[in-house]
Amino acid sequence: MEERAVIEELLLQSRERSAEGQVADYIPELAKRTPDRLGITIHRIGQDSMSAGDCDTQFTLQSISKVFSLILALMDQGEDRIFDKVGMEPTGDNFNSMVKLELVNPGKPFNPMINAGAIVISSMIAGSSPEERFVRLLAFVRKLAGDSTIAINTDVYESEAATADRNRSLAYFLKHNQVLEGRVEHHLEVYFKHCSIEVTCSHVARMAMILANDGVDPDSGEELIPRRYVQIAKVFMITCGMYNASGEFAIQVGLPAKSGVSGGILAVVPGQMGIGVIGPALNQKGNSVAGVHLLRSLSARWDLSMF
Ligand code: GLN
Repeated sequence: MEERAVIEELLLQSRERSAEGQVADYIPELAKRTPDRLGITIHRIGQDSMSAGDCDTQFTLQSISKVFSLILALMDQGEDRIFDKVGMEPTGDNFNSMVKLELVNPGKPFNPMINAGAIVISSMIAGSSPEERFVRLLAFVRKLAGDSTIAINTDVYESEAATADRNRSLAYFLKHNQVLEGRVEHHLEVYFKHCSIEVTCSHVARMAMILANDGVDPDSGEELIPRRYVQIAKVFMITCGMYNASGEFAIQVGLPAKSGVSGGILAVVPGQMGIGVIGPALNQKGNSVAGVHLLRSLSARWDLSMF
């Protein structure tokens, strides 16, 4: 069967799974999304892209942005300073959990993919103001995605900023423990803004393709990310990218990936391709139900697992 037809067929089967999940509603603006949308774009290194389903749906990066804030902060500060503030281990807890923050090594978040870790990372992006930090991150995302018009969805940003009591409490706890320095509201502004960057599957697939190509843009030959930082990002995606379902995802799909509560998933097939998926209905762990199903089917059909 032709590759495009395979994707179409698997997508139709996976879309039915949306009924098992629910759209995130703790950010009120996200509750307005249509649950049974499902779209995918695949960018293969040096080849044409392929898309299917609702691939033109616009969605906010949410936690997918944590991969890129981490990479930019690593490029700005180097590994030693980053890992002085944030750990390298999975938590096994929800992405916005605070339980281990107090129990173990007070205040140091376990990893940069949970909210506490990502808020610390946002504070470590170079820049003299929150605005400058965010603009640098946006420019980085635009370059990786190959689209200089990418912007934030202000409705989603304002909706999250107005309701984020839990993230606020995490951030103030981090400040109390001197892991976060300076003005908490400034760091949260950068964090909420990068979560609200609006994209399509094609943008996410292109960003994933750059990671699959060890940080080099295959079109220009330019190194956009040092290989070492791509390596670190891929490890975090395998161990913590799908939150506390990362082990299950590694067994079922076997690829470095990162999901967000808008229902987006970025997946990397090292040396081959980048994949962007959107499916707003989420499972209990906060991952797209239909999106995970689609990646699982695709990985089995094309033998994509790294392991
Ligand atoms: N902006 C969201 C939050 O902080 C991102 C979480 C996610 O995508 N899992 O809650």
